[in-house]
Parts: sequence; C-alpha cells; structure tokens
Amino acid sequence: DAVKPSNFLRQIIENDLEKGTYASRHWAGSPGDAAHQAAGEPDPARIRTRFPPEPNGYLHVGHAKSICINFGLARDYGGVCHLRFDDTNPEKEDTEYVNSIVESVKWLGFDWRQPGNDKPYQASDYFDFMYRAAECLIEAGHAYVDEQTAEEIRVSRGDFGKPGVNSPYRDRTPEDNLRILREMRDGQHADGSMVLRAKIDMTSPNINMRDPAIYRIRRATHHNTGDKWRIYPMYTFAHPLEDALEQITHSFCTLEFEDQRPFYEWVLERLIEKKTLPDGRVVGGLLTAPPPRQTEFARLNLTYVITSKRKLAQLVNENKVNGWDDPRMPTIVGLRRRGYTPEALQAFAERIGVTKSDSWIDYGTLEGCLREDLELKAHRGMAVLNPVKLVLTNWAEVFGSDAHQEPCTQPALPHVPEGMEPPAPRHFSVGKEVWIEREDYEEVPPKGYKRLVPPSIDGNGNAVPGSKVRLKGGYVIECTGAIKDEAGNISSVRATVIPDTKSGTPGSDRVKVKAAITWVGVADGVQAEVRLYDRLFLDAQPDAGGKDFLDLLNPNSLKVVTAVVEPSLANALPGQNFQFERHGYFVADRVDHMQGNKPVFNLSVGLRDSWGK
Ligand code: ATP
Ligand code: MG
Ligand code: MG
Repeated sequence: DAVKPSNFLRQIIENDLEKGTYASRHWAGSPGDAAHQAAGEPDPARIRTRFPPEPNGYLHVGHAKSICINFGLARDYGGVCHLRFDDTNPEKEDTEYVNSIVESVKWLGFDWRQPGNDKPYQASDYFDFMYRAAECLIEAGHAYVDEQTAEEIRVSRGDFGKPGVNSPYRDRTPEDNLRILREMRDGQHADGSMVLRAKIDMTSPNINMRDPAIYRIRRATHHNTGDKWRIYPMYTFAHPLEDALEQITHSFCTLEFEDQRPFYEWVLERLIEKKTLPDGRVVGGLLTAPPPRQTEFARLNLTYVITSKRKLAQLVNENKVNGWDDPRMPTIVGLRRRGYTPEALQAFAERIGVTKSDSWIDYGTLEGCLREDLELKAHRGMAVLNPVKLVLTNWAEVFGSDAHQEPCTQPALPHVPEGMEPPAPRHFSVGKEVWIEREDYEEVPPKGYKRLVPPSIDGNGNAVPGSKVRLKGGYVIECTGAIKDEAGNISSVRATVIPDTKSGTPGSDRVKVKAAITWVGVADGVQAEVRLYDRLFLDAQPDAGGKDFLDLLNPNSLKVVTAVVEPSLANALPGQNFQFERHGYFVADRVDHMQGNKPVFNLSVGLRDSWGK
C-alpha cells in the first residue's frame, strides 16, 4: 500500500499516541468489552473513533466520507471505530433506516464488530446515565429548570453582539430543580411547558454557551425504549456523554459543530469533576479523565448533488426519483445501484482528503475514481444502444450459406493484473446480419469521419469505394450503401465481408482499416433495457442559498432505451459491472435485471469526463 498522505486528523492522533494521552483509558463498557476485561486482557484499542448517524434516513456520499475517515483512521492506527445510532430523538427514527445504515457500512467495507460484541451501539441505551448526569449537574448547581416559553427563551438568549438576559428561574435551589426535574420525568408537566437548562453564562460571546437546553419534555414512543421516557436529552448534551461512555478518544465531526465544542467540553468537565456540597456530600465524578476530544473537518460538498437527508427524502416522497436507491440518488444504496464500488468510494474519500475549510468537490472527481477502479476489473462486452441492421450481402458466397454463423472470441479483460487468473473469454458469433450503432453510418460524412461511408464520386468525377472498417473482434467489411424506408430513414446498412480477415487469425490485418466499430450479431444478440442516467440537477449547486432545488431538476436525467447486447452480457449477475466497449461502464441492475427475463443495465459512468463540457 502507498503511504497515506498526512493530514491534521492524523497528526492529532499521532501526537496523542506519542504522548500516551489515552494510555490510561479503560474498557468501553460494552458487553463484549466486559468479557475481555474480565479475562484480564489489555484494552486493544489504541484509539477509538465513532460514526454516529441519526437513523432518520439513508446514508449519502457525505456520510461515506465520514465513514471512511472514522473507520479508516481506526484501522490505520490499530484502533476501533464504533457504529453508533444517535437515536435520542424519539420522533423521526425508524428501523428501516437502522437496517439500511448497517448494510451500507458493511458494504463500504468496514466492520464495527468486536469479538463478543457484534451489535452497533445505540445512544438510547444511555438514557438512564444521561438522566443521572442531569441530576448531577443540578446538585452541583450547574443546571436549572426554566419555565419560560420557548419564545421567551429565544428572545432572552440575545444575539450576536447583544448579550442575553438571565431567566427569572435561573436561581432556583438545587432542591427545587431536582424535585421539578423528577416531576418532569414522571409525567407531571405538559410537553413544552419547561426545559432543563445548563447554567453557564448568558453573556458568553458564544450563543451556544448561553444556558443551552439539555432536557425537554416529549411524550413520544421511542423505537428502543418505548414509553419509558417522557423527557429526552438534547443532542448537544447527549453527544459528549455517548462519546465518553464508549471511551471514544477522538470525536471527529463536521465543521458546523465547531461552535458546540466549548459546550461539549463543558459537559464532560462538569461530570468528571467532583464537588463537595455544603452538607458534605460529594457529587460529580460520573466520568473519568481524559475526556474524548472533538475535532472538526469540512463536510463534503459535491457539485450537482444534494446531501441533506431532509431534501433527499423530499425527492423520494414527491416521486421525483424512484426511491432511496434510485441510481440518480447520492445515497450509498443509490450509488451502489448505479454501479459504484466500495473501492471507488474509498478511493474518493482518500483523494479529497480532509481539510479544515469548506470547499466544493467536482462531481467528475467521484466519477474518475469509479472509472479508475472499473478500468482494471470490469469485464468488457459489446452493446448496441441505438441499433440499425447491417446486412453482409456476400455472406453466402463467402461462407456457403446465409444461415452460417462464424464463431468469434475476445478476452473479457484486455489486461489481466499480475497474479490474477484470467477470466473466461467471451464467445459470440457473426452472421449475415449484425446490429450496429445508427451513428456508425453516414451517407454524407462530416470531415474526419472514419466509420461506414457508402461509395461515392469525388469532385473530379472519380469513383471512391465505400469505406472499410473492422467489426471489432470479427471481420473487415466494405460498405456498399444503405436502404431507406419511405420516410427516408435508413432501415438497413449494406456491406460486403472481406474473407480471411477474422480477428485473431493469421494475416487478418492484411487489409488496413481506419476504424473498428462495435456490433452484436442478430442471431445471438439479446435485447436489453438500458437506463441512461445523467445528472439529476441542472445547476451545479442546487442546494445553495435562495434556490429551490425542485425547480432545478434535470428533465432528462433518465432515458431508457432498448439495446442489443452480446450473449455474455445476458449472463450477467445482478450488480455485476461491465465496460460496454466505447460507451462506458454499466452495471446489471441489482433489482430489475432478469426479473422479466430481460437484462437490465444502468449507465454508471461514461468513458471520459463529460462534466466540463
Ligand atoms: P443531514 O443533515 O443530511 O441529516 P446529518 O449530518 O444530520 O446529515 P447524521 O446522521 O447526523 O447526518 O450524520 C452522521 C455523521 O455523518 C455525522 O458525524 C456527520 O458529521 C457526518 N456527515 C453528514 N453529512 C456529511 C457530509 N456531507 N460530509 C461529511 N460528513 C458528513
Ligand atoms: Mg445529525
Ligand atoms: Mg442533520
């Protein structure tokens, strides 16, 4: 493996490993860890990272970046990465999303499982601890119940450059706060009637430090804890606790959480420290030092792509696409169905790197990574996407009968990587009639055109013969003209086959040609549905300020054609990648391929970058 370029996240980890910052860390407290700990084994995790999705939608390409960063760093430094469902919000979560997230992380090639512990972590498993932490903050004088309305709280919080104002409830005694919090917990107060707030500083220049809410009342059934709780922790309070409980060392998140970092640190410090109360009791010490540290990196912004789960859900719900796994969707399930490979997405994450400032990545970069991966491993095949019939009029003369089929063979891969068993070659046949691309015949050719051109008379009155081209992997042919229907459209192209020119036979190159064209035999070609995808949006930044992304949809993002493919392609497995020679990379659709006995292929990416055009 090539040495990975360093970046600021790697430097932070290397620095911590060198200084032994987390050497005293003990076990994460998961069931699997407990078994190892009981056996007296040392903690194997030198670093612990986590990927903490909220199970309220499908993962997208931005999450893929975060997964590759967190799991990739843990792997590279002999650590562990936790998959954790951040399911503290009872209303929006669903097991459909949980399952799809598990699938997507696995498919990307990462594994969160540890011996004896194969379940992902769930934030909701820590609700009891979170509640105890809230009581602890109250007892130490760091939290209070506020009965102002949401609007009053919003207004009194102030604004940038304008300090906030203390709540009239701010100086309640710990005893009162504790009693009311317990009443909240026990369902004695209405939803929204009060919140528990951290008591920090209403004049802080950082608005997030102006007594943020940490618990709210919400009568909602939670997918894990059912109706046990009527109060739920706020995300910004829950998140540092989740990290600390799982003994995360490095908590990497996107830049929008930078302003939350002081609160993240505040929560952990308050729960690590021990405080002696006037009555002599000691509170605190719920967590141990050193706390996990939060570091932010820039989120992925990809041109022509939306990475907001809410907006992606809108595309699905308003039937702008055919579901979360529509091949035009930037979801991991969509990319997979489009033909993306885990290797291409991992390479993409490496290539874009991690930075501290937001920028836009060109969609072509993602496509380039797929092309590079498939170039080496996608089997080749011929497909005619816009077929017109070519008739070889001298076939019986040369081969004795119009019905004769001549077998052809071509390698599945032009270059077999060293150490790899070459895949079985492709077999197909050429006969009197073959399908070619309509654009491969031109009666009046544009300058430089090298494909099929009929005989003509040049400016000096001399006869010019029809052009000679090779049917790729087959014979050289000479064009003799075309037959048109009443409307003037070409119904078939005519040519003669030149004997003894079959590819791979001795002397086959004695006739020089300017071009080779792709084709499929009429006798053994198979009809296939081919879905030609283009970018979903017409605008490079459909999600940028003020624009309505639904107005910017590309009306031609999907074109379905009936193509003819060579027989080897009809045997494709669902999800198998191919290069259709000269057209691009295609994948047999994971869902629909061969469902009605018809092959179905999706365009993954063209052979060349077309985004700059
Ligand atoms: P959305 O805003 O689309 O709902 P989210 O950030 O709320 O996304 P989460 O499920 O909370 O989604 O995300 C899990 C992790 O993935 C977080 O750590 C988040 O920072 C990261 N992540 C989300 N979007 C991106 C992105 N575009 N680039 C990099 N990381 C991302
Ligand atoms: Mg989120
Ligand atoms: Mg979000």
